Amino acid sequence: MSILSWIERWADASPDRICYIWRENRMTYGELKKSSDAVSHWIGRTCGHDQAPVLVHGHMHPNMPILFLACLKSGHPYIPIDRSIPAERILMIAEDSGARLIFSEQPALLPALPQTIIGPDRLTGILAADPADPSKRAYETREGDIIYMIYTSGSTGRPKGVQIPAESLSSFITWVNSDFALGDRQIFLNQAPYSFDLSVMSLYPCLTTGGTLWTVDKDMIARPAELLDSLAASGVNVWTSTPSFAEMCLMMPSFSEKILPDLHTFLFCGETLPVHVARDLHARFPAARIINTYGPTESTVAVTRVQIDEQLIASGQPFPVGRCKPDCRILILDADGRPLPEGEKGEIVICGPSVGGGYLNEPEKTKAAFSEMDGQRAYRTKDLGLMKDGMLYYHGRMDSQIKLHGFRMELGEIEHVLSACRYVKQAAVIPVRKGDRYDHLIAIVVPEDHPFEKSYQLSSAIRKELSQYLPGYMLPRKIIYQSSFPMTANGKINRKVLLKEVVQ
Ligand code: AMP
Repeated sequence: MSILSWIERWADASPDRICYIWRENRMTYGELKKSSDAVSHWIGRTCGHDQAPVLVHGHMHPNMPILFLACLKSGHPYIPIDRSIPAERILMIAEDSGARLIFSEQPALLPALPQTIIGPDRLTGILAADPADPSKRAYETREGDIIYMIYTSGSTGRPKGVQIPAESLSSFITWVNSDFALGDRQIFLNQAPYSFDLSVMSLYPCLTTGGTLWTVDKDMIARPAELLDSLAASGVNVWTSTPSFAEMCLMMPSFSEKILPDLHTFLFCGETLPVHVARDLHARFPAARIINTYGPTESTVAVTRVQIDEQLIASGQPFPVGRCKPDCRILILDADGRPLPEGEKGEIVICGPSVGGGYLNEPEKTKAAFSEMDGQRAYRTKDLGLMKDGMLYYHGRMDSQIKLHGFRMELGEIEHVLSACRYVKQAAVIPVRKGDRYDHLIAIVVPEDHPFEKSYQLSSAIRKELSQYLPGYMLPRKIIYQSSFPMTANGKINRKVLLKEVVQ
């Protein structure tokens, strides 16, 4: 069965079931099917079925899943672009992807673009005007078709589009639905913006099992009282988030099983799950399972899983990230690409159908990271890890990619954009730790000549320029000025010395 059939059997069997709740908006499976049919037929008539990507710009409105499914139904990969992505970055993605069509919740936030832009009014017209023949699909998905592309931070200054084909997404959904024992018709917390692949962990497992996505948006998350009210009204059964988001919720004393009595599973992915977060969650939700999963966007959300039980929590040791899903393999390789024995640390390489189709229009970067091993797609993660008794342990990164509050970013990209700013001669970005995780970024800048009297005025001008290109979560909290950088013997910025100089 295809992904669409999994979803639409719910629309056929129980069209009035609610599949999506966002604030006062409720959408049924029947409406999701009808609306996505209407848009898919319109896309087919307008652009054919040629696999040209479609940008879907917005936040958590129910139109987002409608548009994703419409793209899937019409043979076009979708690229989710969260409303928080700045205009210049959208411009890069629109150029890079070769998209011809953009659906936007707020076209005013977009830069000037040559593509056809469909705003909310036009979309309403498309939804109302086309009573598409429900018996006819605009397009049948084939193996190899790219379903979505997610743009992640790129070290050379341009984000790169990770392509996820139908078979990788099907493999992920099959694994979650069969091995995680989540049950049908569950209420899933839907919290991660769609431009992060964590959102896929709730979206598809939920919709393919007749569940309901309880959706919270950025504004709700920024107001703890509102977030708490929403959670208390949700009846959520399955929690999907980064550990950072759960940690933030734990700061609210009433976040416990009292307000979420039906919550039976926490699913985590995207960054290290700290022992203290699991311990606190277990204390507040003693009946709920905590599942740690691991995987990069390039291998479709997650490829390993482990239940974090009382014993693991009591050990106080860093948690494993789990066992590999059955249709994939994990290898630990040394610097020459040779497999390492159990217990030795090396690069984590993922093989199997979860591995996606490389980076869009980036043959060099794709070749460097993706390959074939024993007839299967393989992805070199640049993550360090080791295997012990079939269980994978994560040991950090081999490069300057970091996770900050759950967000993936390349320090190289921030440095690249910063160095291109008008008043910056040279720049370095340093992540500052708090406990076992990164807490914020500091930028160290050798400035160009500038007209400002005070350094805060200079910082504000630099920050303004930066925020045209980088999303808010990639902006350094502090900018420190120096007249020059300490250098290593081979002429590179000496980051260790720099860190010591600025973080005292
Ligand atoms: P993303 O593509 O945003 O999902 O980020 C993928 C990266 O996040 C991985 O390559 C790891 O470096 C990190 N990551 C993902 N899951 C975990 C986990 N459970 N524990 C530690 N790091 C993780």
